[in-house]
Amino acid sequence: MMAVEDSRPHGTIMPPQVWPAMLGNARAIVEAHLNEQECGLCPAYRRGECARLAWANRMLADPVMLAVERAAESGTRPVTVGDLPAVPDGTVVHLAPGDWSDGRTTQTLTTNVRVLRVHTDRADPNGTQVWVTGHWLECGWESVPPHPPCAEVLVEARAVLTALVALAGS
Ligand SMILES: [Zn+2]
Ligand SMILES: [Zn+2]
Repeated sequence: MMAVEDSRPHGTIMPPQVWPAMLGNARAIVEAHLNEQECGLCPAYRRGECARLAWANRMLADPVMLAVERAAESGTRPVTVGDLPAVPDGTVVHLAPGDWSDGRTTQTLTTNVRVLRVHTDRADPNGTQVWVTGHWLECGWESVPPHPPCAEVLVEARAVLTALVALAGS
């Protein structure tokens, strides 16, 4: 599935907890190369094509890594819809008890939604919850005739970010 490949340009096997530190490192590498303080790898490559610089630029272009960094920088602030990068179609979001509601009642079941759309224009006033439409994993989405989204739920933005991190690391 292409979406999975596209979502992990960083290609790192390091856990998300260290991604903010890796991005800081990447920024320092880019800055050093701007100042023409070439690194030890540079002589082996054509000018501007150093592998270390390419690695740094890949990290800094990765929306999921950047979103994790924003969430980490927020400290104790909850993840909000503004922290989320684009969510690839079909991303499966795992919803634990308390992570989701029907708009009225917080649900206490565990379930999974295959996301078709994150409605960033329909968040709760704090921005910590956002409406998502898609298909329940149990609906057999790939084996049944096409049908309108059967799931419409208000979910924690944190749960969506967690799903993107899992996708990036898979
Ligand atoms: Zn270099
Ligand atoms: Zn469905």
